[in-house]
Amino acid sequence: MTTSFKALMVTRYEATKEQKVETVTLSPDDLMEGDVLVRVAWSTINYKDGVSLTGKLPIIRRYPMIPGIDFSGTVETSTHPDFKPGDEVIINGWGLGETHYGAYAEMARVPGDWLQPLPEGITLRDAMAIGTAGYTAQLAVMALERHGIAPKDGPILVTGAVGGVGSVSVAILNKLGFTVIASTGRTSEAEYLKKLGAAEIIDRKELSEPGKPLGRERWVGAIDSVGSHTLANALAMTRARGAVAACGNAGGMDLPATVAPFILRGVTLYGIESVRQPKSVRIAAWNRLARDLDLDALAAMTREIGFDEILPAARQIAEGKIRGRLLVRIGG
Ligand code: NDP
Repeated sequence: MTTSFKALMVTRYEATKEQKVETVTLSPDDLMEGDVLVRVAWSTINYKDGVSLTGKLPIIRRYPMIPGIDFSGTVETSTHPDFKPGDEVIINGWGLGETHYGAYAEMARVPGDWLQPLPEGITLRDAMAIGTAGYTAQLAVMALERHGIAPKDGPILVTGAVGGVGSVSVAILNKLGFTVIASTGRTSEAEYLKKLGAAEIIDRKELSEPGKPLGRERWVGAIDSVGSHTLANALAMTRARGAVAACGNAGGMDLPATVAPFILRGVTLYGIESVRQPKSVRIAAWNRLARDLDLDALAAMTREIGFDEILPAARQIAEGKIRGRLLVRIGG
């Protein structure tokens, strides 16, 4: 049984509201409530982790906090009926790293109701290469599918395509047979996007400036990580009765759109939320990821880093400088 372990801890000076991030040594008794103790193997750095660790957005709602919104690992002890020592598990969302001690620690104690078994067909490492970003991409794909969009209906736009949600979206859509139009501010990464399965690359500038209420109908669906004018333009150029899945705000929280796409073209806007989905939805999404995401494509978009590199990498992702997915080796 582990008596002490390493963790990243964020504290805040109330007077200045400045955050301090440091590596500390804890014992299991220092962890928060929960009926399952997990030895953390892998975690990841999502955009949310970046803005949380840098203090750019108020993600952490309780200090001190161990940040990190997702991890995979092995159950050490459990009083939850669904889990026993040795079980391989994954977790993302539920307030992990926001209100409940999170992933950047060698041990984590969480309510078992938040955990799910590692999906069949992938490893603990694969699961976190996918991480919250990949799971969110899958939720977005499933929203477009539920809308009835099929590959024969036309191309799908993916914005913020070089980022985590974007890269996984491109790879899944390609494997499902969709034609993908990838929008990026990094057109120098065109080869990377083509390897993941993008058929066409467009410069993000085409979408990031204020546009017309309705434009030429260019795609039947879209997955948007960016928000603001990009989302407004994605809607304005979606074909009649198409759909857009909005999952991010990397370019802004606002939505400077008109109702024209909705009332003149019957376009539907789906909101994608990953934190509080019921377990049944999570299991369905993760099983689809295990099936529909090409593991070679996942490897091509993933960079592995160590515990000591978390903070510099967080700064980079908060500035939109990371390509694909960042996998963090904790105890894996
Ligand atoms: P990444 O940083 O990996 O990807 C974001 C991408 O957006 C960047 O790579 C860049 O792509 C593009 N981008 C960044 N800044 C700007 C800008 N100012 N204007 C236009 N485009 C920009 O982050 P993730 O993939 O981890 O997350 C993407 C978004 O999805 C974030 O906003 C995140 O908060 C959100 N998200 C939401 C979830 C939910 O539950 N709804 C869950 C997970 C993520 P490029 O260089 O190709 O243009």
